[in-house]
Amino acid sequence: MPQSRDTAAVIVAAGRGTRAGGDIPKQWQDLAGVPVVAHTVNAFRAAGVARIALVIHPDDRPRAEALGAATLEGVELVHGGETRDASVRNALEALAALAPETVLIHDGARPLIATALIRRVLDALDSHAGAAPALAVTDALWRGEAGLVTGTQDRSGLWRAQTPQGFRFPDILAAHRAHRAPAADDVAVARAAGLDVAIVEGDEANIKLTFAPDFARAEAILKDRAMTIRIGNGYDVHAFTEGDHVWLCGVKVPHSKALLGHSDADVGMHALTDAIYGALAQGDIGRHFPPSDPQWKGAESHIFLRHAIGLAREMGWELSNCDVTLVCERPKIGPHAIAMQGKLAEIMGVDADRVSVKATTSERLGFTGREEGIASLATALLVRK
Ligand code: MG
Repeated sequence: MPQSRDTAAVIVAAGRGTRAGGDIPKQWQDLAGVPVVAHTVNAFRAAGVARIALVIHPDDRPRAEALGAATLEGVELVHGGETRDASVRNALEALAALAPETVLIHDGARPLIATALIRRVLDALDSHAGAAPALAVTDALWRGEAGLVTGTQDRSGLWRAQTPQGFRFPDILAAHRAHRAPAADDVAVARAAGLDVAIVEGDEANIKLTFAPDFARAEAILKDRAMTIRIGNGYDVHAFTEGDHVWLCGVKVPHSKALLGHSDADVGMHALTDAIYGALAQGDIGRHFPPSDPQWKGAESHIFLRHAIGLAREMGWELSNCDVTLVCERPKIGPHAIAMQGKLAEIMGVDADRVSVKATTSERLGFTGREEGIASLATALLVRK
């Protein structure tokens, strides 16, 4: 999906709510192996929203920083204020320098936000100053007191409000700057400033985690929705040049030539790294470590592999197994294969029986057969943590 370059998100995660149980705020508790907030941030990024202000309580800063570099890419941490309004305003002020066209303001405790819902809100902003998702009330509504029904409430025209609530950025920034009284949400702030807010269709799965059973329900929805395995492949080639050794799968192998490359040219480790990025649908080595950036010149390839496996774990995945094939006539790989398996396993922090390294020649055919270079193919299977 193309990035919405002119859209930013404010994710409000500064609350101290522990009604869900546990001794840390609900938005920092684990959901399917990663903090609730990580799901929320990654959902916006998956929808193409690359600039995010994450509003946190100062006490939660270590938790926020522990989300990891990949989750925090493009995320600015903003400290919350005394009230929710103040928190949102701090975030809007922090985004003001970026001057986004539109902004989506979302509860950090709604981690199941779907791309389709984000798109519906953004689409409605083409024709309205504000837009927010809601679901019509379908249950009968009662008034009650002391455990007794005291009356019924007409439900027509009533809606259950959700987030993200979307606005044209300058309008909602001005509305928050002018707003003084406490507000239920950003729609209330917008309306107080005279902005029209369109209702778009909400999503029953977009629940706000409040009580302990909500976590079980959210995990069930995630399990239902999410893939439980992901597979990726990688392919790489490096040409031979002058030299007396090659690096293959983290092992220095004596040879009459070297491999040419921007980094240490470890063709096997590159293929494996790309297989992991591929399984995550997160591009390839070149995207995360641009060859145009001189800091990666001569870099040891374990940096790339460590990043890829770290990203997998941040996104809630673990390596089930991987299989690397090196294609060359020489050097002979067999004597080094066990060492290569061990090295790759050590770098990825997994048992060596999850890592396969094998080799083939190409019967002297093609560029590998003519010993002009080495090719490598890799497959990685990830499973949900
Ligand atoms: Mg390479």
